[in-house]
Amino acid sequence: MPEPDSDIARTEKLKQRLRFYEDLGLAVFYRDRVSSSSQPRQRQSQESLSVPSSQTIEESPLPKSAVKPPAALPAAASAKSFIPLPSTGPSLFDAANNTPETLLQIRADLGECTRCKLHSTRNKIVFGDGNPKAQLIFVGEGPGADEDAQGLPFVGRAGKLLTQMIEAMGLQRSDVYICNVVKCRPPGNRQPEPEEVNTCSPFLFRQLDSIKPKVIVCLGATAFQTLLQTNRSISHYRGQWLAYRGYKMLPTYHPAYLLRNPAAKADVWKDLQKVMAELGLQVKKKAK
Ligand code: URA
Repeated sequence: MPEPDSDIARTEKLKQRLRFYEDLGLAVFYRDRVSSSSQPRQRQSQESLSVPSSQTIEESPLPKSAVKPPAALPAAASAKSFIPLPSTGPSLFDAANNTPETLLQIRADLGECTRCKLHSTRNKIVFGDGNPKAQLIFVGEGPGADEDAQGLPFVGRAGKLLTQMIEAMGLQRSDVYICNVVKCRPPGNRQPEPEEVNTCSPFLFRQLDSIKPKVIVCLGATAFQTLLQTNRSISHYRGQWLAYRGYKMLPTYHPAYLLRNPAAKADVWKDLQKVMAELGLQVKKKAK
């Protein structure tokens, strides 16, 4: 005989599980099955969250984030209710052939972008720079004044510190790939707005899929929150291995934060040593 309350217990268990998924930011993941085939790109980013099961998830206050939490779809959401994303993505031919897009193709699709209001104040689009076959990608937030002037990522003060960090790992900038969540400078170096992030980030996702790195290092909260589609604070996850759609991903502090808080450099160096171990890189011993 089944337990008289087994249905109630099962329902409660299911509710707890759904609450757990919601806490992870996976609301759309389990509500979106019917319509998922109509919106692969949007679904991609929702599926990305994977937090090690051993990790304690704590509620953190919502930061003034660049990333809007994914809106929970109404239960009866149909394919028709989706708003098309701005980027067209790979051609049907490429998708059918499973051929990854090249960075050049993605850059060409971006074109002289006017998809969001950042275009009206930018000087140069900052697409990304480095090795198109890199095993390691650094993702920042968005270009600053120096980057906007040169069209290259991380070439200002924070960029010089990032270069030192890369070299401390025994690498050169040309070994890795460096890019940002948004490709145009937010005026006054403000955080990019949710709409700007949502419009531009599909290009970042495509860059990552083109390069297929072994490790992605998120520099600061905007990159971390955009890839994991979460509003959670980076401080909970800094230095921890997470998964972004099958890629190993590690969030750490942004070099601009390190310029303001040099004491945090030690934490970042620990994080980078984890990345080095993952990539099989040796820490060079100082000559005596
Ligand atoms: N900060 C970023 O996040 N990206 C840059 O390219 C430069 C500074």
